[in-house]
Amino acid sequence: MHPDLERILFDEQTILEKVGQLGAQLSADYYDKNPLFICILKGAALFMADLVKRVTVPMEMDFMAISSYGASTQSSGAVRILNDLGKPIEGRDVIIVEDIVDTGLTLAYLRDTLLRRQAASVRIVALFDKPGGRKVEIAPDYYGFTVPNEFIVGYGLDYAERYRNLPFVGVLKSDIYATGNSDKPEQA
Ligand code: 5GP
Ligand code: MG
Ligand code: MG
Repeated sequence: MHPDLERILFDEQTILEKVGQLGAQLSADYYDKNPLFICILKGAALFMADLVKRVTVPMEMDFMAISSYGASTQSSGAVRILNDLGKPIEGRDVIIVEDIVDTGLTLAYLRDTLLRRQAASVRIVALFDKPGGRKVEIAPDYYGFTVPNEFIVGYGLDYAERYRNLPFVGVLKSDIYATGNSDKPEQA
């Protein structure tokens, strides 16, 4: 446990078991496609690292940094590419690796962007799905866990850049962000 958390939702073992299942599923679905896994920094970094170790078929990795959230816990709705992919993705079977789908704004934007670059296919794997937060209709093709409409941290997910290193995931105590007043743009 961590003093800033109200409660733990998923412990390390539960997360790693689920990530293993997602890796097995993706290996089966993409065995002959040499898929390109695109990690959306920074939130999905830990998920990506554990996921690709469970992928047993040929694959490649790339990384993209997106700005969508301020330091607050509310989505700004604005999406911007801070760091782009290293190579063109034309003709590639792409898998977007995200930490969590909340409003869906980030993924709607990303999926359209990658399809416009002529990817052969674009699917989304998100460790967490928060359907209660949706503002646009979009669903991950693969996801690990459904979470309630609360602000969670750990296993890559931050509040104001903190808590990413926690090996488990929990709900942040509301008094931690109630006192914060920073709304600087921050990497999702
Ligand atoms: P969107 O609202 O566009 O679906 O999500 C954008 C990004 O906001 C996510 O990729 C994630 O980085 C961040 N986000 C959404 N919900 C949460 C949450 O409950 N906790 C944390 N730490 N980040 C979140
Ligand atoms: Mg993210
Ligand atoms: Mg964030």
